[in-house]
Amino acid sequence: MRKILVAGNWKLNGSLAGNEALVSGILAGMSNVQNADVAVCPPYPYLPQVRDLLSGSAVKLGSQDNSEHEQGAYTGEVAAPMLKEIGCHYAIVGHSERRSLYGETDAITASKFEAAQKAGLVPILCVGELLEERENGTTEEVVARQLDAVVDLVGIAAMANSVIAYEPVWAIGTGKTASPEQAQAVHEFIRSRIAAQDAGVAEGLQILYGGSVKPDNAAELFAKPDIDGGLIGGASLNAEDFLGICTAAN
Ligand code: PEP
Repeated sequence: MRKILVAGNWKLNGSLAGNEALVSGILAGMSNVQNADVAVCPPYPYLPQVRDLLSGSAVKLGSQDNSEHEQGAYTGEVAAPMLKEIGCHYAIVGHSERRSLYGETDAITASKFEAAQKAGLVPILCVGELLEERENGTTEEVVARQLDAVVDLVGIAAMANSVIAYEPVWAIGTGKTASPEQAQAVHEFIRSRIAAQDAGVAEGLQILYGGSVKPDNAAELFAKPDIDGGLIGGASLNAEDFLGICTAAN
Protein backbone atom coordinates (compact mmCIF):
# COMPACT_ATOMS: atom_id res chain seq x y z
CA MET A 1 0.00 0.00 0.00
CA ARG A 2 1.53 3.30 -1.07
CA LYS A 3 1.48 6.16 1.40
CA ILE A 4 0.18 9.58 0.42
CA LEU A 5 2.86 12.27 0.16
CA VAL A 6 2.02 15.97 0.20
CA ALA A 7 4.94 18.21 -0.75
CA GLY A 8 4.79 22.00 -0.72
CA ASN A 9 6.75 23.86 -3.39
CA TRP A 10 7.16 27.39 -2.05
CA LYS A 11 8.75 28.60 -5.30
CA LEU A 12 10.21 32.12 -5.06
CA ASN A 13 8.37 33.04 -1.86
CA GLY A 14 9.37 33.46 1.76
CA SER A 15 11.21 35.53 4.33
CA LEU A 16 12.73 34.65 7.70
CA ALA A 17 9.66 35.90 9.55
CA GLY A 18 7.17 34.52 7.04
CA ASN A 19 8.79 31.07 7.00
CA GLU A 20 8.72 30.91 10.78
CA ALA A 21 5.01 31.71 10.86
CA LEU A 22 4.21 29.26 8.06
CA VAL A 23 6.19 26.37 9.54
CA SER A 24 4.85 26.92 13.04
CA GLY A 25 1.32 26.95 11.59
CA ILE A 26 1.98 23.67 9.76
CA LEU A 27 3.56 22.01 12.79
CA ALA A 28 0.66 23.10 15.01
CA GLY A 29 -1.72 21.11 12.82
CA MET A 30 0.43 18.04 12.15
CA SER A 31 -1.22 15.98 14.90
CA ASN A 32 -4.36 15.93 12.73
CA VAL A 33 -2.47 14.55 9.72
CA GLN A 34 -2.91 10.80 10.02
CA ASN A 35 -2.15 9.26 6.67
CA ALA A 36 0.23 11.49 4.79
CA ASP A 37 3.96 12.05 4.65
CA VAL A 38 4.59 15.77 4.43
CA ALA A 39 7.46 17.80 2.97
CA VAL A 40 8.19 21.44 2.26
CA CYS A 41 10.56 22.84 -0.38
CA PRO A 42 11.64 26.41 0.45
CA PRO A 43 14.03 28.57 -1.60
CA TYR A 44 17.71 27.63 -1.18
CA PRO A 45 18.77 30.35 1.31
CA TYR A 46 16.07 29.35 3.76
CA LEU A 47 16.81 25.62 3.81
CA PRO A 48 18.89 25.74 7.04
CA GLN A 49 16.32 27.93 8.75
CA VAL A 50 13.43 25.66 7.77
CA ARG A 51 15.46 22.54 8.61
CA ASP A 52 15.92 23.90 12.15
CA LEU A 53 12.26 24.86 12.44
CA LEU A 54 11.24 21.34 11.36
CA SER A 55 13.68 19.63 13.70
CA GLY A 56 12.02 16.87 15.72
CA SER A 57 8.92 16.87 13.49
CA ALA A 58 7.91 14.37 10.82
CA VAL A 59 7.91 17.01 8.09
CA LYS A 60 10.74 16.52 5.61
CA LEU A 61 12.78 19.13 3.80
CA GLY A 62 13.23 19.33 0.05
CA SER A 63 14.89 21.59 -2.49
CA GLN A 64 13.17 23.00 -5.57
CA ASP A 65 16.00 22.01 -7.90
CA ASN A 66 19.62 20.87 -7.92
CA SER A 67 22.51 21.24 -10.30
CA GLU A 68 23.43 18.36 -12.55
CA HIS A 69 27.04 19.17 -11.61
CA GLU A 70 28.68 18.05 -8.40
CA GLN A 71 31.16 20.91 -8.10
CA GLY A 72 33.23 23.32 -10.14
CA ALA A 73 32.94 26.52 -12.13
CA TYR A 74 29.15 26.75 -12.37
CA THR A 75 28.30 30.16 -10.96
CA GLY A 76 24.95 30.32 -9.25
CA GLU A 77 24.40 26.57 -9.16
CA VAL A 78 23.69 24.50 -6.06
CA ALA A 79 24.93 20.92 -6.02
CA ALA A 80 22.97 17.93 -4.78
CA PRO A 81 25.62 16.91 -2.19
CA MET A 82 25.35 20.42 -0.69
CA LEU A 83 21.60 20.00 -0.39
CA LYS A 84 22.02 16.61 1.21
CA GLU A 85 24.56 17.99 3.65
CA ILE A 86 22.24 20.82 4.62
CA GLY A 87 19.45 18.36 5.47
CA CYS A 88 17.31 17.90 2.37
CA HIS A 89 15.52 14.61 1.85
CA TYR A 90 13.82 15.42 -1.47
CA ALA A 91 14.81 17.47 -4.54
CA ILE A 92 12.27 18.57 -7.14
CA VAL A 93 13.66 18.19 -10.67
CA GLY A 94 12.16 19.09 -14.02
CA HIS A 95 9.46 21.41 -12.71
CA SER A 96 7.64 22.91 -15.69
CA GLU A 97 8.82 26.39 -14.67
CA ARG A 98 12.44 25.18 -14.91
CA ARG A 99 11.68 23.60 -18.28
CA SER A 100 9.80 26.56 -19.76
CA LEU A 101 11.52 29.59 -18.17
CA TYR A 102 15.08 28.28 -17.97
CA GLY A 103 15.22 26.01 -20.99
CA GLU A 104 15.82 22.81 -19.06
CA THR A 105 15.54 19.92 -21.46
CA ASP A 106 14.60 16.31 -20.79
CA ALA A 107 18.32 15.47 -20.88
CA ILE A 108 19.23 18.13 -18.30
CA THR A 109 16.35 17.02 -16.09
CA ALA A 110 17.55 13.42 -16.32
CA SER A 111 21.08 14.49 -15.32
CA LYS A 112 19.69 16.43 -12.37
CA PHE A 113 17.67 13.39 -11.33
CA GLU A 114 20.79 11.24 -11.51
CA ALA A 115 22.84 13.79 -9.54
CA ALA A 116 20.16 14.01 -6.84
CA GLN A 117 20.08 10.25 -6.38
CA LYS A 118 23.85 9.99 -6.38
CA ALA A 119 23.91 12.44 -3.46
CA GLY A 120 21.33 10.42 -1.55
CA LEU A 121 18.37 12.69 -2.24
CA VAL A 122 15.00 11.40 -3.39
CA PRO A 123 14.16 13.21 -6.63
CA ILE A 124 10.60 14.34 -7.25
CA LEU A 125 10.49 14.22 -11.05
CA CYS A 126 7.90 16.55 -12.59
CA VAL A 127 6.32 15.62 -15.91
CA GLY A 128 3.33 17.08 -17.70
CA GLU A 129 1.94 18.43 -20.92
CA LEU A 130 1.21 21.94 -22.16
CA LEU A 131 -2.37 22.95 -22.96
CA GLU A 132 -1.79 22.67 -26.72
CA GLU A 133 -0.29 19.21 -26.25
CA ARG A 134 -3.40 18.09 -24.36
CA GLU A 135 -5.60 19.63 -27.00
CA ASN A 136 -3.78 17.95 -29.86
CA GLY A 137 -3.91 14.59 -28.12
CA THR A 138 -0.21 14.15 -27.38
CA THR A 139 -0.34 14.10 -23.56
CA GLU A 140 0.83 10.49 -23.30
CA GLU A 141 3.54 10.98 -25.90
CA VAL A 142 4.94 14.00 -24.01
CA VAL A 143 4.80 12.36 -20.60
CA ALA A 144 6.37 9.18 -21.98
CA ARG A 145 9.22 11.19 -23.55
CA GLN A 146 9.90 13.06 -20.28
CA LEU A 147 9.78 9.83 -18.27
CA ASP A 148 11.86 7.76 -20.69
CA ALA A 149 14.65 10.35 -20.71
CA VAL A 150 15.16 9.65 -17.02
CA VAL A 151 14.59 5.89 -17.05
CA ASP A 152 16.95 5.47 -19.99
CA LEU A 153 19.70 7.30 -18.10
CA VAL A 154 19.34 5.87 -14.58
CA GLY A 155 17.74 2.48 -15.26
CA ILE A 156 14.39 1.19 -14.10
CA ALA A 157 15.60 -0.03 -10.69
CA ALA A 158 16.60 3.52 -9.71
CA MET A 159 13.00 4.66 -10.13
CA ALA A 160 12.18 2.78 -6.92
CA ASN A 161 13.95 5.50 -5.02
CA SER A 162 12.09 8.41 -6.53
CA VAL A 163 8.74 10.16 -6.67
CA ILE A 164 6.99 11.29 -9.84
CA ALA A 165 4.74 14.34 -9.98
CA TYR A 166 2.30 14.58 -12.86
CA GLU A 167 1.71 18.28 -13.34
CA PRO A 168 -0.28 19.31 -16.39
CA VAL A 169 1.23 22.70 -17.17
CA TRP A 170 -2.19 24.20 -17.95
CA ALA A 171 -3.27 23.47 -14.38
CA ILE A 172 -0.31 25.01 -12.55
CA GLY A 173 -1.15 28.26 -10.80
CA THR A 174 -4.14 28.77 -13.07
CA GLY A 175 -6.91 27.63 -10.76
CA LYS A 176 -7.76 24.96 -13.37
CA THR A 177 -7.41 21.51 -11.88
CA ALA A 178 -7.35 18.39 -14.00
CA SER A 179 -10.46 16.44 -13.11
CA PRO A 180 -9.74 13.43 -10.91
CA GLU A 181 -10.55 11.24 -13.93
CA GLN A 182 -8.16 13.14 -16.24
CA ALA A 183 -5.40 12.97 -13.64
CA GLN A 184 -6.03 9.29 -12.86
CA ALA A 185 -5.80 8.41 -16.55
CA VAL A 186 -2.32 9.91 -16.87
CA HIS A 187 -1.17 8.49 -13.52
CA GLU A 188 -2.30 5.05 -14.68
CA PHE A 189 -0.41 5.56 -17.92
CA ILE A 190 2.78 6.51 -16.03
CA ARG A 191 2.50 3.52 -13.73
CA SER A 192 1.86 1.14 -16.61
CA ARG A 193 4.85 2.50 -18.52
CA ILE A 194 7.07 1.80 -15.51
CA ALA A 195 5.36 -1.58 -14.98
CA ALA A 196 6.22 -2.60 -18.52
CA GLN A 197 9.84 -2.66 -17.34
CA ASP A 198 9.41 -3.58 -13.66
CA ALA A 199 6.05 -4.34 -12.08
CA GLY A 200 7.43 -4.21 -8.54
CA VAL A 201 8.92 -0.75 -9.00
CA ALA A 202 5.65 0.49 -10.53
CA GLU A 203 3.59 -0.86 -7.65
CA GLY A 204 5.66 0.95 -5.03
CA LEU A 205 6.12 4.23 -6.91
CA GLN A 206 4.46 7.32 -5.43
CA ILE A 207 2.94 9.38 -8.24
CA LEU A 208 1.78 12.80 -7.06
CA TYR A 209 -0.63 15.11 -8.83
CA GLY A 210 0.16 18.82 -9.05
CA GLY A 211 -1.87 21.68 -10.45
CA SER A 212 -4.12 23.92 -8.37
CA VAL A 213 -4.68 21.35 -5.62
CA LYS A 214 -6.73 22.91 -2.82
CA PRO A 215 -8.30 21.60 0.40
CA ASP A 216 -11.65 21.25 -1.38
CA ASN A 217 -10.43 19.11 -4.30
CA ALA A 218 -7.63 17.12 -2.65
CA ALA A 219 -9.73 14.30 -1.17
CA GLU A 220 -11.33 13.45 -4.52
CA LEU A 221 -7.95 13.43 -6.26
CA PHE A 222 -6.22 11.37 -3.55
CA ALA A 223 -9.06 8.82 -3.63
CA LYS A 224 -8.06 7.76 -7.15
CA PRO A 225 -6.12 4.49 -7.21
CA ASP A 226 -2.99 5.82 -8.92
CA ILE A 227 -2.84 9.25 -7.26
CA ASP A 228 -0.55 9.03 -4.25
CA GLY A 229 -0.59 12.62 -3.04
CA GLY A 230 0.13 16.09 -4.30
CA LEU A 231 2.83 18.57 -5.20
CA ILE A 232 1.35 21.82 -3.99
CA GLY A 233 2.33 25.32 -5.13
CA GLY A 234 0.11 28.24 -4.15
CA ALA A 235 -1.82 26.46 -1.41
CA SER A 236 1.40 25.42 0.34
CA LEU A 237 2.03 29.04 1.33
CA ASN A 238 -0.92 29.07 3.69
CA ALA A 239 -0.69 26.74 6.69
CA GLU A 240 -4.42 26.19 6.94
CA ASP A 241 -4.79 25.35 3.24
CA PHE A 242 -1.70 23.13 3.23
CA LEU A 243 -2.93 21.25 6.31
CA GLY A 244 -6.37 20.96 4.72
CA ILE A 245 -4.72 19.14 1.82
CA CYS A 246 -2.61 16.95 4.13
CA THR A 247 -5.67 15.90 6.15
CA ALA A 248 -7.61 15.13 2.96
CA ALA A 249 -5.67 11.86 3.03
CA ASN A 250 -7.04 10.91 6.50
C1 PEP B 1 3.45 23.60 -8.82
O1 PEP B 1 3.99 24.59 -9.27
O2 PEP B 1 4.11 22.56 -8.64
C2 PEP B 1 2.02 23.66 -8.55
C3 PEP B 1 1.36 22.54 -8.51
O3 PEP B 1 1.49 24.90 -8.37
P1 PEP B 1 -0.04 25.23 -7.98
O4 PEP B 1 -0.45 24.30 -6.87
O5 PEP B 1 -0.01 26.67 -7.53
O6 PEP B 1 -0.85 25.03 -9.21
